[in-house]
Amino acid sequence: MTNAFDGFPDVIGGSAGIFDHNSASVAGQHGGLSAHDTPQTNPTRFGVAVLMACRGCGRPAQLMIEYPELICVQYNAFPQNVWAALQQLGRHPPVQEPTMWEYSAANAGMFPIKQCGWCRTPLVPIFTPEEAQAHVNKALQSGWIQDPAAAQQLAQLAYQVAKQQPAR
Ligand SMILES: [Zn+2]
Repeated sequence: MTNAFDGFPDVIGGSAGIFDHNSASVAGQHGGLSAHDTPQTNPTRFGVAVLMACRGCGRPAQLMIEYPELICVQYNAFPQNVWAALQQLGRHPPVQEPTMWEYSAANAGMFPIKQCGWCRTPLVPIFTPEEAQAHVNKALQSGWIQDPAAAQQLAQLAYQVAKQQPAR
């Protein structure tokens, strides 16, 4: 996962901006993000772009959730545990920026550990396994996952890792 689209110059450099087509619903009459915690998700070929308002300072925060992370979340496997398993196999994590994820029992989903760049309040964009699966399926259907066979292998590894995780 990456913060503020670091490493995704195509996304920020675009003339229109990836949020333009759906930003109206959060802009509101005051021109800023609403106070709602609900993040907006926008699937892209780089990953799922998340736009949310920081609960601490209200500034907009942008995150990019990479598809390999969502493949892990789909199986309720912590991405960091899956990357560790991959490294034991001598392979690198298939993400630009490995990020620790936590589990939210209240929301039955996972979220990356990221803070607002301005006030350090944790951003909590939660993905349930079902949401992650829907994003992964869309990415597969859209041809955004370059190597579907590798994604399938990753899914199998995530499934195994999830079974070995300590009970929550
Ligand atoms: Zn903030």
